[in-house]
Amino acid sequence: MFNPETTVKDLSALIGQDKVLTTEEAITGSMGMEFSFERAFGYVYPHPAKAVVKVTSTEDVSKVLKYCNENGINILARTGGSRSQESSLVPIDDNSIVLDGAGMDSYEIDEYNMAACVGCGMPIARLEEIVRPMGMTTGHFPQSFPLAQYGGLVSTRSMGQFSTYFGAIEDMLVGLEVVLADGTVCEIRPVPRRAVGPDLKNIFMGAEGVMGFITKAYIKLFKYRPHADLWKGAYIMPSYLEGIEAIREIMTEGYKPAVTRLYDKPDYDHNYGTVELEDGEAYMFFVNDGPEAVQKVTGDAIDKIAAKHGAHQIGTEAIDHWLEHVDDLCSMADLETTSKAYRETKLSYGAITIAGNWADLKAIYKDVNTELPGKYENQTLLGGHVSHCYHNGANIYFVYEFRIDDPMEASNIVAKFFEDVDRIALRYKSGTIEHHHGIGKGRAFLCPIEHGTSYEVMRRIKNALDPNHIMNPGTLMPLDSL
Ligand SMILES: Cc1cc2nc3c(=O)[nH]c(=O)nc-3n(C[C@H](O)[C@H](O)[C@H](O)COP(=O)(O)OP(=O)(O)OC[C@H]3O[C@@H](n4cnc5c(N)ncnc54)[C@H](O)[C@@H]3O)c2cc1C
Repeated sequence: MFNPETTVKDLSALIGQDKVLTTEEAITGSMGMEFSFERAFGYVYPHPAKAVVKVTSTEDVSKVLKYCNENGINILARTGGSRSQESSLVPIDDNSIVLDGAGMDSYEIDEYNMAACVGCGMPIARLEEIVRPMGMTTGHFPQSFPLAQYGGLVSTRSMGQFSTYFGAIEDMLVGLEVVLADGTVCEIRPVPRRAVGPDLKNIFMGAEGVMGFITKAYIKLFKYRPHADLWKGAYIMPSYLEGIEAIREIMTEGYKPAVTRLYDKPDYDHNYGTVELEDGEAYMFFVNDGPEAVQKVTGDAIDKIAAKHGAHQIGTEAIDHWLEHVDDLCSMADLETTSKAYRETKLSYGAITIAGNWADLKAIYKDVNTELPGKYENQTLLGGHVSHCYHNGANIYFVYEFRIDDPMEASNIVAKFFEDVDRIALRYKSGTIEHHHGIGKGRAFLCPIEHGTSYEVMRRIKNALDPNHIMNPGTLMPLDSL
């Protein structure tokens, strides 16, 4: 039987009393922005964690996990807390503690091999500050850049704004250290590539903490070029679908712009509005990185292909504005200001990001815009943008806003919208319900459907690594599917 007092005492004896926090402030704070709309109106978590354990070393993590595994205590892994949505960091029962790796922020930089080894608590913004004076960059710029840390970045399979050139976290991560549920420490050495069995990093990348606790990440670093030196191109497209056609041609011809974005009018007007669009038009822009000559060749091709698809080229001021404001959403993490805004406006804004091949992506966009407008009583915004592109397809962020009359219903209203968008994506062979955020607990019920027959592989791996299901229970994989 789980006894919180004994647990706190035992954990304090194992790793030090100062690392085991039980104040209400620490516990509520560890759940970050989760249910922030409801919290603005007085919501109280039904199952708060019993303690927040601030580990500072791999040894700490190993001791805590071994103890929790032996005593049936559930773990909520956490670093930056920026993905505290869809109940990622909220316990499902009264048996849980938060394992917070934010204090594990060690780093070693290898300039010659353009690589780094960072602790899971290294904030990406800090690493970028460290490597810039050396002429290098992480190349990883998610919109959560001011908040996110490497443990979470790896565990959510995160993706930055310059991804089409630098790649996503899976293209940057070369090795890992992870602690399994029973306390076993595993290192996946940082080799450039290996063909000695499956790539084991993939078991932990994107696992949202259900397969083990990531303690270290070995990553690539890249040559840094200031924004002022990058090629930029901006266009008004006659329609959203024509914009997708232009991007498809750019990608399938083999060009690799760093930033590739295509906004429909509702999304762009709501979030930026610095370019005037007529109804039905779309705003498309690109930023190139890499050697100057490569940037120019890529830029010339983009201009040409965009023109072929009816683009009207405009100035690049709006791109500079976007680059300056792209991380503004992180101000939502200031819960006091956000709560005040929620109480005043009763408006809840957010996004869901799906992906598909070129044909399916267009079909999903059309279905969402045909079937969902008017379906929910108080939806005040439905828009979308493409932001990450591949040879064989791209993602779309669908953005939404709801006016919420009954604050305690906010999460349910949004969950219904998410499910509708996800079920549209799942109609298509290449449609996926989530491109780069993870699905937390909120959409875990869709995980077996997303993976189909291959879900069995995930299920068996989970049961082998965490037979007692202590790691982030209910997240990513529904408990009744294990
Ligand atoms: C405003 C905003 C903008 C965002 N923009 C982007 C974006 O552009 N691109 C993008 O990819 N994501 C984005 N995100 C989502 C999210 O911030 C990122 O995915 C980020 O990687 C999470 O990092 P974190 O350190 O905050 O993780 P946390 O929120 O602490 O955790 C995220 C998940 O990882 C697990 N986890 C955390 N640490 C560990 C660990 N050490 N071991 C095992 N599991 C662990 C947690 O249990 C949780 O399930 C955004 C979020 C916000 C709030």
